[in-house]
Amino acid sequence: MEKNKIKHYLIMAASTNHMLRGDQLLKNEGLTTSLVPAPSEYGSVCAIAIKVKTIDLEKAEMILKESDIKLQGIYPEKIKKLSGLVEKLEQSIISDDFLKVLKKIEEGEELSFEDIVTLLKSERRAEKDALFSAADRMRREIIGDVVDVRGAIEFSNICRKDCKYCGVRKSLKDLERYRMNEDEIMEVVHQIHNIGLQTVILQSGEDLWWTPERIVSLIKRVKRETGMRITLSIGERSKEEYALYKKSGADNFLLKIESTNKEIFKFIHPDDDYERRVKCSNDLRELGYLNGSGNIIGLPGQTVEDIAKDILFFKEMGINMIGIGPFLPAKGTPFEKYPPGSVEMTLKAVAVTRIVCKRVFIPATTALASIDKDGQTKALKAGANTIMLINTPTKYRENYQIYSEKNMVDLKSADKAIKEAERKFPPYLRLGGRKDAKHT
Ligand code: SAH
Repeated sequence: MEKNKIKHYLIMAASTNHMLRGDQLLKNEGLTTSLVPAPSEYGSVCAIAIKVKTIDLEKAEMILKESDIKLQGIYPEKIKKLSGLVEKLEQSIISDDFLKVLKKIEEGEELSFEDIVTLLKSERRAEKDALFSAADRMRREIIGDVVDVRGAIEFSNICRKDCKYCGVRKSLKDLERYRMNEDEIMEVVHQIHNIGLQTVILQSGEDLWWTPERIVSLIKRVKRETGMRITLSIGERSKEEYALYKKSGADNFLLKIESTNKEIFKFIHPDDDYERRVKCSNDLRELGYLNGSGNIIGLPGQTVEDIAKDILFFKEMGINMIGIGPFLPAKGTPFEKYPPGSVEMTLKAVAVTRIVCKRVFIPATTALASIDKDGQTKALKAGANTIMLINTPTKYRENYQIYSEKNMVDLKSADKAIKEAERKFPPYLRLGGRKDAKHT
């Protein structure tokens, strides 16, 4: 049957290093590849797999073999069916529309815009439970129970832009500005490397003191001294710059679209252009980054339909990591008095994104942890599979309040969320084996 044909294969390399080199080699040879969470069976070897088109598989194998890239295995990316979803619900009160969408998920069919809206609009308890458990199953069956933990360093709160929601926006006057230098950053990088983390996220405002030369020097030093994977989250730059960082050793990039509703995008970003933001995302993908995007839930004027379009955007753009967080009012910003986004809508968006985009990284965001003390646990149970720790030095943290009362996600709170969601600490994390944590 046409529908069941395998369109993609997942290649697992023997180590992160081989996987990254292999992916680059394939891209250099003109193959379309994508970096995705590894299949559940292999979550502990290397968290990431290379996804290739079926027609490219033979060529890919040849290229990798010629370059001595060691492989763990190659797996067909099957259409994911979630059997039994509807059956279990027969006793419950579920609307016909909702049931129809659930049946499509069960059969592994693609969801339409209308289907996504139906899911996001679910109100009845039984419907919401069904949505979250379908997303949770999708996550478990395709990526398994290990939660990927990463460490973030917010290395500068100096920003040339004036995004209206953001607590480090340029025109905010009552804010002590800071900028960590390379040595200070490296000290933290070593700390988190010692814990066993494999990815460091370097995030900042759009601070042009950090010239390409300085960023390249930092990237190279992180690679040289620790070999960690590097995620950059430093805003909009030119394709040449993104290319330079990739060449110097950066692996991932987070640049959120925030909203695909162009009017909202314009309204909240006085300095930005929607098309340019999309171009940046396209550039990052073309350059072979593990490409991160995401949105904010509860922006002024945002409708459920807008959120549905965001999710389809992530799918169509082939985004690999999707950060979904509630809007949180930040003191001193034009949006200070606006109501925060809804936790429930955020969780629904996480769940639908997992069901629609399937093999992607979805963090249980810091924003969720800030508005609801159980927010990260809830997100992990609704399709999320990643946690980012905040490793910014204490003396700077209070000045990186992109939203007020930002929660500090640390190992302890991550441990709690992972336990409560009955999930596993990554095997690479040394503190995961502390006496009080049994995640082996
Ligand atoms: N300057 C970088 C980093 C921005 S901070 C960049 O532009 O990419 C990272 C994310 O925090 C943003 O992408 C945004 O989605 C989120 N954020 C910022 N302010 C917020 C607020 N008030 N409420 C919710 N999320 C917010």
